[in-house]
Amino acid sequence: NGQAPAELLSANNITALFDSVDAFLFDCDGVIWKGDKLIDGVRQTLDVLRSKGKKLIFVTNNSRRSRRQYAHKFHSLGVSVSEDEMFSSSFAAAMYLKVNNFPQENKVYVIGGEGILEELRQAGYTGLGGPEDGEKRVQLKSNCLFEHDKNVGAVVVGLDPHINYYKLQYGTLCIRENPGCLFIATNRDAVGHLTDLQEWPGAGCMVAAMCASTEKEPIVVGKPSTFMMEILSKKFQIASSRMCMVGDRLDTDILFGQNAGCKTLLVLSGVTTQSTLQDPSNNIQPDYYTNQVSDILELLGQ
Ligand code: PLP
Ligand code: CA
Repeated sequence: NGQAPAELLSANNITALFDSVDAFLFDCDGVIWKGDKLIDGVRQTLDVLRSKGKKLIFVTNNSRRSRRQYAHKFHSLGVSVSEDEMFSSSFAAAMYLKVNNFPQENKVYVIGGEGILEELRQAGYTGLGGPEDGEKRVQLKSNCLFEHDKNVGAVVVGLDPHINYYKLQYGTLCIRENPGCLFIATNRDAVGHLTDLQEWPGAGCMVAAMCASTEKEPIVVGKPSTFMMEILSKKFQIASSRMCMVGDRLDTDILFGQNAGCKTLLVLSGVTTQSTLQDPSNNIQPDYYTNQVSDILELLGQ
């Protein structure tokens, strides 16, 4: 589609990139860590970027944790990242409600994990559903009437390892029958590294189920939607043109960066291989690519 092929990051072009940005936005899985294991050289690279005055911001589509829980995960991996520097799709879902003046007295039904419920609580909202609805069962008797709360004004769908028919019916009734009920997806990732060794069905799988039954399309708050960029660039008062998005996925991270007008750097330490990047069928080209985040250190001569 006319995008120039990505340039390999090198000692020659890194200074131009470095000088043109004030902030680095890092995707997490495949860039910072793989599952629960920190990728080699990440800690030192982040330290050097900070010491050179760059703002570091972390943007993940994984809704399973809240910002507080992510800050804790970083800490346990020996990397100091504060809640304020963390943007997760769980937080984005709560922020979407907040910036759109969603009434505090309305409830939110969650098909997803504890991370979403915690962010909703922090924003002052009442979340229903979540993991504990995983134990519930529907009774498909001929005279059964499934009751749902008419005060649910939004359904948030994220990755839910305990998805079941009860939750699908609950969320579907809210969206189809409660007037004006919002349908929000944390993200639509096809698969994710829920364990280190394998990919598992991602939030896109639960979102697709709800699209089918409601015959509606969701509001997506995670990458590649630019909603998180709107909140983070306002918070830190940095123009997106002065940011570099570093990610391992073309259709979420790199597209997010491009949609927002950032510089983009693809790392090959996650899901994208060099042959996928260079395949003629791929039409998403980052500005730069490199093997892993720690190459930045080496190329800066650190
Ligand atoms: N969603 C889930 C459930 C995941 O497990 C992952 C990665 O492990 C992702 C999304 C993608 O996360 P990120 O945006 O940090 O790559
Ligand atoms: Ca990733």
